[in-house]
Amino acid sequence: MSKTGFDLALKIGSKKLHIKRQKQLDAAYHYHKSFHDKNGNIDSKYLELRNCPVCNKNNFVFLFLKNGGNYVQCKNCQLVYLNPCFTDVHLENFYKGMHNMQAAVVKNESHFYRKIYSYGIKNINKFIKPKNEKKILDLGCSSGFFLDIAKEKKWKTFGIELNEKDLEITKKNHNVKNINLYQAKKEFNLKFDVITMWDVIEHVKDPHELLKTIKKSLKPGGLFFFQTPNVNSLAARILKEKCNVFDGIEHVNLFNENNIYTIAKKNKFKVLLVESVISEIPIISNYLNYDHPYFGNSKEKKILGIINDKILHKNYLGYKIQAVFKSM
Ligand SMILES: [Zn+2]
Repeated sequence: MSKTGFDLALKIGSKKLHIKRQKQLDAAYHYHKSFHDKNGNIDSKYLELRNCPVCNKNNFVFLFLKNGGNYVQCKNCQLVYLNPCFTDVHLENFYKGMHNMQAAVVKNESHFYRKIYSYGIKNINKFIKPKNEKKILDLGCSSGFFLDIAKEKKWKTFGIELNEKDLEITKKNHNVKNINLYQAKKEFNLKFDVITMWDVIEHVKDPHELLKTIKKSLKPGGLFFFQTPNVNSLAARILKEKCNVFDGIEHVNLFNENNIYTIAKKNKFKVLLVESVISEIPIISNYLNYDHPYFGNSKEKKILGIINDKILHKNYLGYKIQAVFKSM
């Protein structure tokens, strides 16, 4: 298992980029607010309480409120999750009504995304080579930038995207459908060698149900690749509710490395790789310098002159996790 990390810290630490990103976050938050009650909390009519979606225990501690959403941590498996959380119906309506900004984010930061997507492909190709028309399906493919790169690397590309505007763009180069994952097996009428989810799994309330469905759409021995925020990252643990990873509505489950092994085991997947990526050293350094974490100007390459990328990733403290599972 690889423990080496990958870094783009200085690229995404730049103030200019975060100012752009903040505009998108503000627009998202404006939409989130339409679900708030008069006290600025998510209106209880949309919500339900739930057990821990990883270990099913109902034993948690309150962490903090963020944008009206209540983050708790499971005392059994340390998953951080929204509790209460949108009911399934309201969560679906929430996404239907949302203007998808991911395509704009990727366009603004194409240099960063090209690098991180290529890195993901490299992690997949360690275990399976894209020869003989091997098929890859990206769930929540947005405007298809990842699929573009996968195609360059000789994968046969498929995608699922609910946002129709994005779908129109992606359609030009890839086989994409406006369906949900549960319809994939029937609608594509084939099984895939690899299924990918980039920063999507944290939006799904039940990871076990998700993995069961993914398994049905994979060939025997097929791979599932995903990237998701690391709730044990140094950035999340230092910044807490100031960290952008906590948004209060959409990021319903935030995993640590152990949670990832648990969901794999329970659903009969073998973990081939878990890797910490993206250090966020400038952001952490800004904050430790009493500056705004995202708008400061730190160019430090070590946190407090001590922790560099290598040490950080070796200890799984990166901002995100990339993982590869094999269907057993
Ligand atoms: Zn738990």
